[in-house]
Amino acid sequence: MKKVLVANRGEIAIRIFRALAELDIETVGIYAQEDEASVHRFKADEAYLVGEGKKPIEAYLDGMSIIEVAKKAGADAIHPGYGFLSENLTFAKACEANGLKFIGPDAHHLDIFGDKIKAKKAAIEADIPTVPGTDGPVDRVEDVLSFGEEHGYPIIMKAAMGGGGRGMRVAHTPSEAAEEFKRAKSEAKAAFGLDDLYVEKYIADPKHIEVQVLGDQHGNIVHLFERDCSVQRRHQKVVEVAPCVELDAQTREQLCQTAVKLMKHVGYVNAGTVEFLLEGDSFYFIEVNPRIQVEHTITEMITGIDIVQAQILIAQNHLLHSEIGIPEQEDIKLKGAAIQCRITTEDPANGFLPDTGRINTYRSPGGFGIRLDAGNGFQGSVVTPFFDSLLVKVSTEGLNYEKALQKMTRALEEFRIRGVVTNIPFLINVLKHPTFKNGTMTTRFIDETPELFQ
Ligand code: ADP
Repeated sequence: MKKVLVANRGEIAIRIFRALAELDIETVGIYAQEDEASVHRFKADEAYLVGEGKKPIEAYLDGMSIIEVAKKAGADAIHPGYGFLSENLTFAKACEANGLKFIGPDAHHLDIFGDKIKAKKAAIEADIPTVPGTDGPVDRVEDVLSFGEEHGYPIIMKAAMGGGGRGMRVAHTPSEAAEEFKRAKSEAKAAFGLDDLYVEKYIADPKHIEVQVLGDQHGNIVHLFERDCSVQRRHQKVVEVAPCVELDAQTREQLCQTAVKLMKHVGYVNAGTVEFLLEGDSFYFIEVNPRIQVEHTITEMITGIDIVQAQILIAQNHLLHSEIGIPEQEDIKLKGAAIQCRITTEDPANGFLPDTGRINTYRSPGGFGIRLDAGNGFQGSVVTPFFDSLLVKVSTEGLNYEKALQKMTRALEEFRIRGVVTNIPFLINVLKHPTFKNGTMTTRFIDETPELFQ
């Protein structure tokens, strides 16, 4: 590969340009009209406007135009980042059909893991514990009710095509289930174009634990340990921690080996994440994300492995160990601890309403153990309402969780951002809360801790 187009924007586009530059590969960026002044445009060696006259988000979803740009620019491959086209099977196939390598898993992995029902089937086939649920999509409300009767309430209805915390509904009673089922179905149709839903038992108070996996095209697969992403709002991650503080060595080993087992079963290629819910010592598979994730930075910190570089080298058919330099599994060592906070331009005091406007002051923290991945976080930049409100990711590392946490608290307190509201005060409240300090947070932590909003 000599030249790669990154079909994304903001911090993740820049993150990928950096990896490409280090590998001596030229970079091609794309930008929507509304992103004319966005930094990612200027961080690429060359960048092209896409989706003229379309809605801003559609520009980054316009696969065929993006492929045209890549071909004209003479790119060899496309990296999709996260979100947008990253899990789009049609796009991945179109890239390959046009002689462009899609930097991600093979099309059939996207097919399996883009659909949560197929993913769960694959997990059951691989003999991996899953949350008790329906075997396939449910079409009739009667089937939802009989599931509830058999397994007890609460239950959760999930859209097969859902993602990013969307397309899920919890019901505590049969009447709630009947009502929510109708709503969930029409919402899924509107949001994902397909209204397939399945039902699972709702695990009362779990931790969300996920295992990072890397696989090459020759069948070598390793895990890079786990992340604890239990700090969530509306099923979306806010703060992530690696490794999980509460996990004992034996459960960690079991969990990580379970993730590898599933990925070996499907012959997985490239970077992927296997997600589980953990309750006590029991864990249940929920889904696989077949792409780079927002929170990959903390795994890089605790293992020293550059996951995005690995993705690019895997896509060039290199061998995981001897050519890419990833150690053998037993030599991948967990070192210290790391935390990531997602700083967004949202107002915690006002239902996390996104704020917009010009950033008048922007002074960011730095120093030992602190990593910043920013998109448009700089003085004078204008936060628009068109895209998601992630401003900058802060990742910190230390010899242990406590040290990483001290650094994160200091880093957030060092920020000076004026002109737009951010969630920094809320994040600081999370970091200072005893539950977060001792690492025992579950997915209900934010919802059940009103003092975080003060
Ligand atoms: P998405 O693809 O939208 O991220 P996931 O399936 O990964 O959806 O689930 C996101 C979050 O929703 C989980 O981290 C967890 O907090 C919650 N969740 C999902 N399934 C269940 C379940 N069966 N019981 C309890 N919580 C669940």
